[in-house]
Amino acid sequence: MSEAETAQRCPFCRIAAGTLPSEQIYHDETVVGFRDLNPQAPLHVLVIPRRHVRGINAPEAEDGALLAAMVRAANQIAREQGVAESGYRLVWNVGPDAGQSVFHLHLHVLGGRQFGWPPG
Ligand code: AMP
Ligand code: ZN
Repeated sequence: MSEAETAQRCPFCRIAAGTLPSEQIYHDETVVGFRDLNPQAPLHVLVIPRRHVRGINAPEAEDGALLAAMVRAANQIAREQGVAESGYRLVWNVGPDAGQSVFHLHLHVLGGRQFGWPPG
């Protein structure tokens, strides 16, 4: 599949391009942050790179600048949304056992409640 075809089919490429609606709360030149459609906590935001990378286990994800941009955005969102002090959880789901359902790299930012450990 060409890059253009991927971008047309991938929901998160479409969100990054603005052709699929989302509630965006963060954006910079590298990443976008938007609210999850099916939130698992009072704060549940997904941070994605603008460019298509299929997951954290893809070779293109092992790019220090890209990962730093995602973590910086997640931490800024946590501060702006008021959970930096109370705490939050950052999650990358990888593959079937972890329940990954969208194959465009995304970092979950969850906060606003107490989380259990180990995770379910
Ligand atoms: P994962 O299981 O890690 O692949 O998570 C994918 C997440 O994307 C789930 O939490 C979904 O609720 C969320 N999601 C899927 N489609 C959309 C969408 N169009 N807008 C916002 N969140 C979405
Ligand atoms: Zn994509």
